[in-house]
Amino acid sequence: MNRDDIKKLVIEALSEVKKDGGKLKRDIFIYLDPKGDGEKFAQCGTCRMFTGKTCSILGKQKITPEMSCDYYVNGPISKGLLGKEVASVTPKEAGLVNRQVRCENCRSFKDGVCLLYQTLNKSNPDLFDLDEKVNAQGCCNAQMPKSND
Ligand code: SF4
Ligand code: SF4
Repeated sequence: MNRDDIKKLVIEALSEVKKDGGKLKRDIFIYLDPKGDGEKFAQCGTCRMFTGKTCSILGKQKITPEMSCDYYVNGPISKGLLGKEVASVTPKEAGLVNRQVRCENCRSFKDGVCLLYQTLNKSNPDLFDLDEKVNAQGCCNAQMPKSND
């Protein structure tokens, strides 16, 4: 199956789940505007699940403040959970990465606009109504590193 076939399948699946007649908004990508220290937003160092050395939902896997994953929740870290971690998901399932994941570090970001959202809006206007204007320090689960990263 090539990339276009996969894209077609995803679009068809999304069309099926769209039951209320409304269009899909960017919450389907879990887009987050920055909170607190924007320079550190979306990284483990500002996530509630971070114990300072590990992640409370990833078991004993060593974690640094510069990492990130799809389960990020902004807030004070939980040092009290060090040693009490539960391996609820694997690092692979969580999408654990060791890179900066804000829009400013994403290949789809240009001049305050998300080119991925723009492309989806243009190619499937009946399905998507994604707010294309994004914060440089925001993030979403479709973040991809720039090709030269
Ligand atoms: S691995 Fe994910 S859930 Fe765990 S501290 Fe980092 S961002 Fe938070
Ligand atoms: S620029 Fe990247 S991280 Fe930001 S909203 Fe678009 S896809 Fe997500």
